[in-house]
Amino acid sequence: MHQPTVAPSSVPVGVDTTRASIARVYDAALNGKDNYEVDREVLRQVATVAPQVKDLAWSNRNFLTRACRFLAGQAGITQYLDCGSGLPTAENTHQVVQRLQPDARVLYIDNDPVVLAHGRALLQENDQTLFISADIFDPDEVLGTPEVREFLDFDQPIAVIQNGTLHHYLGEDSTELMQQYVDAVVPGSYTVIAHFLDPQTPEHSEIARKMEEKFTHSPMGSGVFRTYEQIRAMFPGQELIEPGLVLCDEWWPDGPRVTPLNQVEECIAGAVGRKLPA
Ligand code: SAM
Repeated sequence: MHQPTVAPSSVPVGVDTTRASIARVYDAALNGKDNYEVDREVLRQVATVAPQVKDLAWSNRNFLTRACRFLAGQAGITQYLDCGSGLPTAENTHQVVQRLQPDARVLYIDNDPVVLAHGRALLQENDQTLFISADIFDPDEVLGTPEVREFLDFDQPIAVIQNGTLHHYLGEDSTELMQQYVDAVVPGSYTVIAHFLDPQTPEHSEIARKMEEKFTHSPMGSGVFRTYEQIRAMFPGQELIEPGLVLCDEWWPDGPRVTPLNQVEECIAGAVGRKLPA
C-alpha cells in the first residue's frame, strides 16, 4: 500500500469539531472531557473489531508514568523533551518527574490547538515546564527552535519521549527520524517509545491489523501497528534498558498480574533506550 511521506498529523486539524484529532481521540479513550462526538465515534468504530480499544490508551499512558518514574528516580534524569504531550490528564510528565527530581525541566511539544490551549494553561504550572507548538516529526524544526535550545542544556543528558506518537508517523523512515533526535543529545541520554504493535502471532496479529484498518480509515487517519523489529529500529545507537522492548504492560509493572492481558493489551509495546558512547 502506498503511504504518504508526510504524516497527516503534521498538519494539525485545528479546532474543527467535525474532524477527529489524535489528541482528542486519546483523551476520549482515557475518559477525559476535552473531546467531541467525532472523536468518540472513532473509538466506537474501532470497538466494533476490538471492544477493549480504550486499553491501548491506558497501557500507553501507564507505561509512560512508569518510564518517567524510572528516569527520574533511578537514572537521575533532570531534562525531558516530551514530544506529543497530549491533553493534560492525571500524572503528567512534569508532575511525575518533579516529584522525584524537583529541579527537573520538562519541555512539552504538541501541534494540536486544543492541546496548546489547555497545555499552556495547565501543564506550564512552574518555571521548569514549558509548552511549545512544533511538528515532532520534523526534528530540524524542533531542535532548531530557539526556546528548545534555551530551555534544555544539550551538553547534559536529556530524555526524549515519543510515547504513543510514532504510530501516527506515516513517513518512510522512523529510524532516520529518531536518529536526528539521538544525534542531538549526549551519551547517557534516554529515549522512551510506546508504539502500536503487530505481535505477529496467530492469536493477536489479526486484531492488530483490524484496528489499524479502522484507525487509518477513520476521520483520525492514522494508527500503524508495527512489528517488534520495526519498533526496535526506532532506537538507533542505543541499548535497551531491561526488560527491553516488551508489551507496555509487561515493562516493569507495578505489581504481580492477577488477570491475563486482553487482546488489545497484547498490541502495544514500549521500551526505554540509553544512548551509548560514540
Ligand atoms: N504522549 C502522550 C501520552 O503518551 O500519554 C500523548 C499521546 S497522544 C496518543 C499523541 C499526541 O501526539 C497527541 O497529542 C497529538 O496531538 C500529538 N501529535 C501527533 N502528531 C504530531 C505532530 N506531527 N507534531 C506534534 N504533535 C503531534
